[in-house]
Amino acid sequence: MGRLEGKNALVTGAAGGIGLETVILFAREGANVLLCDISGPALEKAVARVKEVVPEAKKVESKIADVSKEADVAAAVEHLDAWGGIDVIFNNAGIMHADDDDAVNTPEKIWDLTQAINVKGVWFGSKHAVLSFRRHGKKKASVINTASVVALVGSAAPQLAYTASKGAVLALTRELAMVHAREGFRFNALCPAPLNTPLLQDWLGDDAAKRQRREIHFPSGRFGEAIEQAQAVLFLASDESSFVNGTDFVVDGGMTKAYVTAE
Ligand code: NAD
Repeated sequence: MGRLEGKNALVTGAAGGIGLETVILFAREGANVLLCDISGPALEKAVARVKEVVPEAKKVESKIADVSKEADVAAAVEHLDAWGGIDVIFNNAGIMHADDDDAVNTPEKIWDLTQAINVKGVWFGSKHAVLSFRRHGKKKASVINTASVVALVGSAAPQLAYTASKGAVLALTRELAMVHAREGFRFNALCPAPLNTPLLQDWLGDDAAKRQRREIHFPSGRFGEAIEQAQAVLFLASDESSFVNGTDFVVDGGMTKAYVTAE
């Protein structure tokens, strides 16, 4: 028996990075999975990859959705009605815009775009998941929302809109956990450290100084890998974590516990 046998799962931002690694683990552990992303071509490639590496996968389908649009999110969740309703949603889609900066230099439109995707997207996913859990009479369900370590520790390399958005994800996830605990719906936030995914690596590019500025703070001396986040998401999605609720689930190689790191 797989760890997610019989469960229907939806993953947003599923075409790459943490999302895709999570889909692969979910499929391997017996879940039916709907991949959602804003990029159609990337989604097609992602589905092909999942089918290639998990030939035994059950349902693996995809749907284009912009998480900042409620109608898209509602339609994605409702896609799983025909499967028996959603059991797990991983609200993972997020952006870190190149023009995001400090209080003085962040353009308002970048602030608004970041909150629309990173915060409103998580709200819409949570809202439509709850409506679906109730519609299908689910007695247990799991919602995992991607935040970040920047919601826990201050960074002197600023991305103010992003940081504020991830703080909001932690706060709203905690409250949702309290509101829905008696219904059996769990809500946890994932806090990844800086990772080896396009979101950050494209932004850092080959700027060695920018890279070094970050690496010095990692106890392990390296960026995290998407698969290391996916393993945590699998645990939070499965019934193995049935008493884990409302947490800021930190997967950071010890970064947020560090003072002076080894040379
Ligand atoms: P990624 O860029 O590899 O993947 C993000 C995916 O989200 C992409 O496939 C993209 O097309 C999709 N996406 C973007 N906007 C969308 C929208 N409006 N609707 C639907 N999909 C959309 O990034 P990743 O590193 O895997 O990041 C996943 C999550 O992890 C994000 O929420 C990010 O903020 C968070 N995170 C990343 C890091 C890091 O260092 N990479 C650290 C902490 C937290």
